[in-house]
Amino acid sequence: MVEIKTDAALEMMREAGRVVAQALEAARRSATVGVRLRELDEAARAVLTEAGARSPFLGYQPSFAPSPFPAVICASVNDALVHGIPDDYRLRDGDLVSIDCGAELDGWTGDAAISFTVGTPRPADLELIAATQRALDAGIAAATVGHRIGDISHAINAVARTADCGMPADFGGHGIGRQMHEDPHVANRGRPGRGFPLRHGLTLAIEPMLMAGGRDEYRTDPDGWTLRTIDGSRAAHIEHTVAITRDGPRVLTLL
Ligand code: MG
Ligand code: MG
Repeated sequence: MVEIKTDAALEMMREAGRVVAQALEAARRSATVGVRLRELDEAARAVLTEAGARSPFLGYQPSFAPSPFPAVICASVNDALVHGIPDDYRLRDGDLVSIDCGAELDGWTGDAAISFTVGTPRPADLELIAATQRALDAGIAAATVGHRIGDISHAINAVARTADCGMPADFGGHGIGRQMHEDPHVANRGRPGRGFPLRHGLTLAIEPMLMAGGRDEYRTDPDGWTLRTIDGSRAAHIEHTVAITRDGPRVLTLL
């Protein structure tokens, strides 16, 4: 079922989204060469605690997962695409890091992700991150009243293909509100003019995940969570929670 949010609910989601942005910023600030991924999680966790927010990631166990997720962020490094577990890995010069974080505040949820480099970046990684950002921007630009979900999906896919990047077929964005994952699914590929119609008050997490090698296949680590590119190429993942409004798309997960 798709819940269309009231304007009051959108304001509540904006506050949850602000906490997500603050937690991501804290994780990014702490991400320097030699720092453990676990410390990025601690930085994000401190922001959620300070804000009185609950983590929808901590303890989350979807059907594909063998164990409850143990952290408030996903930290995916280099060839890891999404769902990396922040462990004792120490960041190295030139790493490409994607951090995903959610927050539930007063019953409403936000979900966002950032990708960035640590130390001296590889030019190809900066290009990959820029392409992923362009895919997200195109998806958000298509998130307008009168369009359908397929217009968002198509816009994201067009950018990814132009950049010669791959994307997994079975992971993408989603409705969001009282829960982190709600209907409708927001695939990262699709046909324009198809799918659920976009209306004022619909809230979506839009999240392109691009793989530099151009393949759409991925593999799953033995931990059952971490998804990696099949060819060892690097991956990036950027996400915002967005409200469709009659005044245009409104990004809820900004500072
Ligand atoms: Mg997310
Ligand atoms: Mg999401």
